This record gives sequence, C-alpha cells and structure tokens, in this order.
Amino acid sequence: MSLNSVVIAGAGHAGVQVALSLRQEGFAGRISLVNDEPWLPYQRPPLSKAYLLGKIDAMAMQFRPAAFYAEQRIDLVADRGAAIDRQNRRLLLASGAALDYDHLVLATGAHNRPLNVPGAALAGVYGVKTRADAEALAPLLATARRVVVIGAGFIGLEFAAVAAAAGAAVEVLELGERPMARAVSPQMSGLFRAAHASWGVNFRFRTAVSEIEGDNGKAVAVRAADGERLPADLVVYGIGVIPNVALALEAGLSIDNGIRVDANLLTSDPHISALGDVASFPCLQNGERLTRLESVQNAVDQGRLIAARLTGKPAPYTALPWFWTDQGNLKLQIAGLSTGADNHVVLGDPATQQVSVLCFRGEQLLAVESCGRVGDHMAARKILARPPALTPAVAAAPGFDLKAWEAANR
Ligand SMILES: Cc1cc2nc3c(=O)[nH]c(=O)nc-3n(C[C@H](O)[C@H](O)[C@H](O)COP(=O)(O)OP(=O)(O)OC[C@H]3O[C@@H](n4cnc5c(N)ncnc54)[C@H](O)[C@@H]3O)c2cc1C
Repeated sequence: MSLNSVVIAGAGHAGVQVALSLRQEGFAGRISLVNDEPWLPYQRPPLSKAYLLGKIDAMAMQFRPAAFYAEQRIDLVADRGAAIDRQNRRLLLASGAALDYDHLVLATGAHNRPLNVPGAALAGVYGVKTRADAEALAPLLATARRVVVIGAGFIGLEFAAVAAAAGAAVEVLELGERPMARAVSPQMSGLFRAAHASWGVNFRFRTAVSEIEGDNGKAVAVRAADGERLPADLVVYGIGVIPNVALALEAGLSIDNGIRVDANLLTSDPHISALGDVASFPCLQNGERLTRLESVQNAVDQGRLIAARLTGKPAPYTALPWFWTDQGNLKLQIAGLSTGADNHVVLGDPATQQVSVLCFRGEQLLAVESCGRVGDHMAARKILARPPALTPAVAAAPGFDLKAWEAANR
C-alpha cells in the first residue's frame, strides 16, 4: 500500500524526530504533527537544569523555529488526539476535527505520577514535566529559602542541585535507601550522595511523606510518615511517570506498562506505531523483555527507526540505551542497562569525582556509569554495542584503561 499521509500524535522528542526523519528519508507525503502544548515543540531535559538556572531561555529549548516546519511541510496541528477510529484510519481530535491517516504514530509520552497525599494540590507544590511547570518554578527559586524535594531519582536530584545552587536549604525525602537506586550502582549513588551533601543537600532515606501542610492554600511544611515536620516554602516531587496510554487503550491496542509494540515498534494494529516514553518494546539489552525507557536517546533512535520503516527500510530496534543527568557540576553518563548487575568494578578515585563503574552480571558487562569521564562513556557505548567481551578480571587489573582497551580491541 502506498503511504501518503502520516499522522503523529504528540510533539515531544519522539514525535518531532519521526517527522524530521521522514523528510530526511525522502517521504514526500503529508505529515501532521499534533501538538497539545501551547508552544512550539521543545526539549524537556533543560526544564530541570539549564532553564531553571537561567543558562538558556525558552527559545533555546525549541527543537526548530516555526518557519522550519513550514519549509519542511510538517503541519503542526494545535490540538489533542481524542480517539482513534481504526476502521476508517482516522484520528479524532479534541476540537472535533479529524485527520485521516495511512499510518498513525503514537508519541504521547508520559505524565508525572501524582503525589497522592493530603495537601498535594496546595500552591507551592510542583512536579517538573512541562515548560509550564518550569516557568512557574523558575521565579520561585529566587525567593525560596526552604525546599523539600520528594523522590531522589534523576529529576528530583537535578532540581535539588539547582535549588541548593540558588541558596535554598534543601531536604530530599526518599522511600528507598540511596539516591537514584533504580538506575545506578551503589558506588555511583555514594558519589552523588556525597556531592549533594557538599552542596548542602540533606537526605532522608526510607522516608515516606504522609501530608503536605498548608496555610491559606499554600504549602508550608511536609510531614513525614515518622511524624517529623519539615518546613518548606517550595515542594517539588519527582516520583516517576505514568505512560499516556488512554488513546491506545480506548482503541483496543495491546497495553503492557505502556503501549505494547514489537521489535519494529508496531502496535497490535499494523497501521499504528508507538515509540518513546509511552512504548513498551522487547529490549535486546534486557533479554528481550518488554521495557519502557524514558530517555532522549530512546525517543530519537526509535523515531529514526520508524521513519526508516515507513520509507521502505524496516529493521528491528536494537540500539544501545544510554542516559545522562547533570547535577551541580557533575555529569553522569550511563551506557547500557544495569538491571541484574551483581559485580562492579570501579575505575578512578571517587574523591576526584571522576569515576566509571563497570556493572557486570557474572562475566557479562551490562552497563558503564561514568561521572566526569566522557572518554570512558564513549568507549563503553562502542564496547557494549559490539562485543568482544570485557571481563571483570581484565577490568579489575591495576591501571586498567577503558578507552585504551576499546581502541585495542576494535
Ligand atoms: C524535567 C525532565 C528532565 C529530563 N532530563 C533528561 C535527561 O537529562 N536525559 C534524558 O535522556 N532524558 C531526560 N528526560 C526524559 C526525556 O525528556 C523523555 O524521555 C523524552 O522527552 C520522551 O519523549 P516523548 O516524545 O516520548 O515524550 P514527551 O517528550 O513527553 O512528549 C509527548 C508529548 O505528547 C503530548 N501528548 C500526550 N497525549 C497527547 C494526545 N492525546 N494528543 C496529542 N499530544 C499528546 C504531550 O503533551 C507531550 O507534548 C527528562 C524529562 C523531564 C520531564
């Protein structure tokens, strides 16, 4: 069947990449990119770091200026996908309009997991997901003296570092036992815990929140489950996200912790693809288990893959996952997925904050976490993408150099 019209629901990293790559691949048909946010499509990573620090403005977060979309004949449709009429291949929009498609791409991302405690709706309590959130938060940073952050994942800690740099006293409450526990090794958690402490951030682990107390509709304190009361003039939470599957669910597509797709990123309907934060795909690096990743790399690489398939170059998705987070003066880069790691080899001295942690399961290298060692990160991406296998014994030898090993074993 010839493909004349592609409709993309969601204009975040994933949706924009599909549109751009379709044109780069020579697709000449109609592209409709449905954008339900009131701005030109923008990047999210700066929302919890460079934008809040005032290092970049809102214009710099945009992927492309308005003229670009016009030049590329990408129709930016300011609307929201409300329902999918699969029979007639039509996306119904919230405005009442509809877009016919030959192929539909669902790139609807995820929303913040809500904080389900009394007081969560008070003024002064924020998640960080959208440009609107960051625009509301940025001016408050200038005056906030006591900040409580709920959740010690990437976003909570990026915000904690920003708030500490702005001069606030910062308390981080976390249910788990260490920072970024789901994503990094105990060794890397330790390095970041120490760094945050040196910036004045105080952690309370194994601590649940029972309530946010308010005064005149505004948050004034966070009450921990153990009864402790932490005064706060600003509360920010980052406790995970929930994929935006409503459109797909109502249309009867398979759902499994996100919209379920196959190795080609096709949903259970061959005329509909899904990708990015909303999609669960069989992940090569995770033993083909259905996996949902929340990262720019994943959204971009999956966008390229779908565009290639739609222009006649199908291939299974096998890209190596990689991630980064910026906290204070530290950049952490992670190549691979460390789930199931049982052995860690540390390169470098944590006291210098320039460390790589090699995460092994048995003899198999699963992931490399690099703080302040960009060369290691780049070498790790090559090593993990195409073995020869690096063993723990080789990595643990005195003076081992990851970059040199990669160069010698190409
Ligand atoms: C504060 C913050 C910091 C981050 N930092 C990093 C980082 O440092 N490194 C990194 O790799 N990743 C980072 N991420 C994650 C990264 O931004 C996401 O993985 C990426 O944006 C996913 O792209 P996406 O297009 O799948 O989803 P999104 O970017 O969330 O875009 C989805 C879009 O679809 C829209 N939408 C939803 N439903 C509909 C509908 N029915 N119709 C039309 N539109 C709809 C949404 O409003 C949204 O605009 C960060 C995320 C946040 C929030």
